[in-house]
Amino acid sequence: ALARVALVGRPNVGKSTLFNRLVRKKLAIVDDSAGTTRDWREAEADLAGLRFLAIDTAGLEDARGDVMEARMRQGTERALAEADVALFVIDAREGVTPTDRYFADVMRKQSTPVILVVNKVEGRATMSGLGEAYALGLGDPVPLSAVHGDGFADLYEALVPYV
Ligand code: GDP
Ligand code: MG
Repeated sequence: ALARVALVGRPNVGKSTLFNRLVRKKLAIVDDSAGTTRDWREAEADLAGLRFLAIDTAGLEDARGDVMEARMRQGTERALAEADVALFVIDAREGVTPTDRYFADVMRKQSTPVILVVNKVEGRATMSGLGEAYALGLGDPVPLSAVHGDGFADLYEALVPYV
């Protein structure tokens, strides 16, 4: 069976854009408004010959007091439980947010291996924001631009041990 790779992270960091690039189909809903993808979608991915099942989840949100967000978090936790590895995606343009930190804690406390992906890294300005990502304690971040298709060789290297 193909390894299951779950894409997790708060809304708008680019999970669905990354998913679409990995599966080369427009199966996931990509939208500027936060939290558009409420379910998860899965499709076979091919990353330079590395084949796996990519799972696009809704964004992780701090559930406090919000039923919709609580459901999104539950969906993510379910996807994680069934995944062989998770890509925890953050946004280099916005930097590490309190929500990212909250969910980095969640990620560290569960047993599925986590690869930290810093998306929207385009040019030097966003590159400088990478330092904060190291401080999340999830290992070396993989800088990526899902839109431009940069950084996928490093993503390949990071995924090889798990798929
Ligand atoms: P999701 O909510 O995490 O699934 O995020 P989406 O994939 O829906 O993307 C949210 C927004 O970020 C969209 O406007 C995307 O076009 C944009 N986006 C995604 N990846 C990148 C990237 O690598 N660079 C830039 N500049 N924008 C991106
Ligand atoms: Mg999405």
